[in-house]
Amino acid sequence: MRFLEKIFHSISTHVLPSACIVCDQHQESSLCAGCLHSLRVESLINYECCYQCGITLEAIELSEQHCVQCINDPPYFDETYCLDRYERVLQNAVHQLKYQKRLAYAHGLASAWNCILSKQLRDYYADYLLPVPLSTQKLSVRGFNQSWEIARRLDCSPNIRKIPYALKRHHHALPQAGGKLSIRRLAIQDMFYIDDSYVEPLQNKRVIIFDDVMTTGATLNEIARVLKDNGISHVTNWVLLRTTKAPHV
Ligand SMILES: [Zn+2]
Ligand SMILES: [Zn+2]
Repeated sequence: MRFLEKIFHSISTHVLPSACIVCDQHQESSLCAGCLHSLRVESLINYECCYQCGITLEAIELSEQHCVQCINDPPYFDETYCLDRYERVLQNAVHQLKYQKRLAYAHGLASAWNCILSKQLRDYYADYLLPVPLSTQKLSVRGFNQSWEIARRLDCSPNIRKIPYALKRHHHALPQAGGKLSIRRLAIQDMFYIDDSYVEPLQNKRVIIFDDVMTTGATLNEIARVLKDNGISHVTNWVLLRTTKAPHV
């Protein structure tokens, strides 16, 4: 069976063309050389970003390495790494994955991350990597959790355990997209919890949370609050796309 799988993989890699997830050109890999280059030179690793929330810093914030908002109202998470801005070339690929349910885009998005960020984060030390969860109801409608489908394909230290179901989410009727930070914070309060079987193993551990898109940061902040309340020592966000400016409270 493994032999047949290898043949199929070889055929699909070398004979059947892929479409670039950015420009749709057919070629061998899921990101063409031109789009990868443009992504690399414009990605957020080329900019000075807030150590804690990943937003690009204003000139007056550079000396502190933190944005004014994180200094005035520090979030519960400790660090944030983001690949690119939401407004740029990968936005459509994320939409194709989430809303058109085109699962192949998860592979392309993970490839983009691995090509650009894995060198920087290959030796990053943590115990667990958990995706931002969907509620059971949302999961059954979409069929998959897009954050997990990307996260499971990320290159990282083999010591980091990737667990899809340690973090859980209650179903909530209120829409999540957009809105003021204060309203979003209220809407997601007590929405997340840790599965009983992971409360003990996560104690005093370093945890990475992976999300496809970070906007206000309210979701990731609420997750970090729950984790810290349950004894997790350090919380880092790994985020594919970051909106340029978080709306203030
Ligand atoms: Zn391309
Ligand atoms: Zn910040």
